[in-house]
Amino acid sequence: MGRKHRRKPQEPKEVGPVQPGRTIESHPDGDWIVQRVTGSSATKPYRCPGCDHEIPMATPHIVAWPAEDPAGLDNRRHWHTPCWAARDRRRPRR
Ligand SMILES: [Zn+2]
Repeated sequence: MGRKHRRKPQEPKEVGPVQPGRTIESHPDGDWIVQRVTGSSATKPYRCPGCDHEIPMATPHIVAWPAEDPAGLDNRRHWHTPCWAARDRRRPRR
């Protein structure tokens, strides 16, 4: 007994480590964390949800996930850069 309960300073909610090339973009469906992937770090192909085509290895592209979603980083999607840019105009099918 006798230990005083110290108030901890409020820390901002963390959504993942801050990395170079990572930005937060505001979209009609909320804020998205957008990470630019260089060709040299794209070591395997991904399927782009914008056009449903493959993003070949070594292709610079975009990784994006909802900023408000605690599991967002686990649900991140890889997009062609132009498909991500056109996302608000041409929404992906579910
Ligand atoms: Zn695409």
